[in-house]
Amino acid sequence: MQVVWFKRDMRVVDHRPLVEAAAIGPVLPVYWVEPGLWAEPDASGRQCAAILDAVAELQADLAQLGQPLIVRVGEAVPLFQRLHRKLLITALFSHEETGNGWTYARDLAVGRWCREHAIPWHEYRPFGVVRRLKSRDGWAKRWDAEMATTPLPAPRALAPVPGIEPGRVPTVEDLGLAPDPCPGRQRGGRRAGLQQLASFLDVRGRDYRRQMSSPLTAAVACSRLSVPLAHGALSMREVVQALAARRAESRDGAWAGSLTSFDGRLHWHCHFIQKLEDDPLIEVRALHPAYRSLDQVADPARLAAWSTGQTGWPFVDACLRSLIATGWINFRMRAMLQAIASYHLWLPWRLTGLQLARWFTDYEPGIHWPQVQMQSGLTGINTIRIYNPVKQGLDQDPTGAFIRRWVPELAGWSAERLHEPWRFGGPAPIVDHLDAARLARDRIWAIRQGGDFSDVADAIQAKHGSRRAGVPVMTRRRVSNQLVLSFD
Ligand SMILES: Cc1cc2nc3c(=O)[nH]c(=O)nc-3n(C[C@H](O)[C@H](O)[C@H](O)COP(=O)(O)OP(=O)(O)OC[C@H]3O[C@@H](n4cnc5c(N)ncnc54)[C@H](O)[C@@H]3O)c2cc1C
Repeated sequence: MQVVWFKRDMRVVDHRPLVEAAAIGPVLPVYWVEPGLWAEPDASGRQCAAILDAVAELQADLAQLGQPLIVRVGEAVPLFQRLHRKLLITALFSHEETGNGWTYARDLAVGRWCREHAIPWHEYRPFGVVRRLKSRDGWAKRWDAEMATTPLPAPRALAPVPGIEPGRVPTVEDLGLAPDPCPGRQRGGRRAGLQQLASFLDVRGRDYRRQMSSPLTAAVACSRLSVPLAHGALSMREVVQALAARRAESRDGAWAGSLTSFDGRLHWHCHFIQKLEDDPLIEVRALHPAYRSLDQVADPARLAAWSTGQTGWPFVDACLRSLIATGWINFRMRAMLQAIASYHLWLPWRLTGLQLARWFTDYEPGIHWPQVQMQSGLTGINTIRIYNPVKQGLDQDPTGAFIRRWVPELAGWSAERLHEPWRFGGPAPIVDHLDAARLARDRIWAIRQGGDFSDVADAIQAKHGSRRAGVPVMTRRRVSNQLVLSFD
């Protein structure tokens, strides 16, 4: 009996473990809803609800092929053990997972269990991330080649395995997770993912490049594929090839720039996850050792203000409240929210990074933690951006429409006064943003003066930095509307 273990690859199309296992003989597809995973501090009810959407769809899709997904609540090793006693597992098939420390430890335990029981575990690459990568040289070329191969069709049929109940997909309430209301949550699963892909490439993506930066337009103009990609409800290869087909047929110049930008973002997906794959401690430890002694403090008032959208900076509060209510916000605003927490509020990056992770329905540890570090200035190889919360609001929400939608107590204020109400008799923000930015800049600057800072940064660049245009240029870019520290 071949067992296919689904984790964050919730599809039957372009699923190599499933195809390889089915070519050998009978297959039992399984999904474990792991209480340990959902008890981790980066996990939340909204994430769980979205992946359970995908699990339910996958169960139905596999049932169509002949053998539904077996769903159980429990930890992986005891569940495999139970299954093995019942039907003698001959081999285990799955995709590799670049997850958080918890899934890494769980995979090590599953690996040990397989070895003890002489069960071969065949793991396959889920997208462009390479395990045990020796060097970043040639990485992007390899990514392009891998994404150009034809996606595998689903197996034609799976022989039913008698005597094993598929099991009901639990709800978040069944699992007893902390309540996590998210009225605007994006639905998980392949159907929603395919719809998003089609509507983005047909209609919504036309002005992606121009509209991705403002939270007013980004929710529609961005692809919104982060949820299906994080769950593997769509494969990266499928998305890359749909994009390539769209580019080949597009005669409309207005689309060209947007499709090119989108292509770059798809590379970034794997480029970032590769960092966590190469250095799992990025989740918990500043990449550049000089920053590991930063004295950021978990000031309760500041943390509470940031965590509830009550900082007093209207645009920041609008972004926070929108994120809390919908589980999504665009890239630039994610960067600003983390930067404000780390610089202006001087809060520990790991603490606010965990809170952002819980808010994101699309939480992907391999993108999240390298981005949190980058936006907190901890990598030693990126330009440090200390965003100006007032300027960001004026640039991205000039009429104040987004602020009025999410900060209703300011609904009556004019556009001229809305961005800085404290200058017109309104309530003051939790700290003065210019003073706080200066202080943060001085603290960060002082650390960068240390003796071997640059040598260590060069080594980090060699290990994690990109090698070609199209993936983020790590240094030397000045962005006029932010307080930028460029040290290079
Ligand atoms: C502090 C911080 C935390 C983040 N955490 C996550 C996370 O947990 N999960 C997540 O998917 N993205 C994360 N991002 C990256 C980015 O903000 C989201 O991928 C994007 O906003 C998702 O919306 P979309 O699918 O409409 O993106 P689009 O702009 O349509 O991009 C398409 C896809 O490209 C990839 N992508 C886009 N931007 C980036 C980027 N900057 N880095 C790496 N990949 C990218 C994603 O897979 C995305 O789905 C984070 C960014 C920051 C600054």
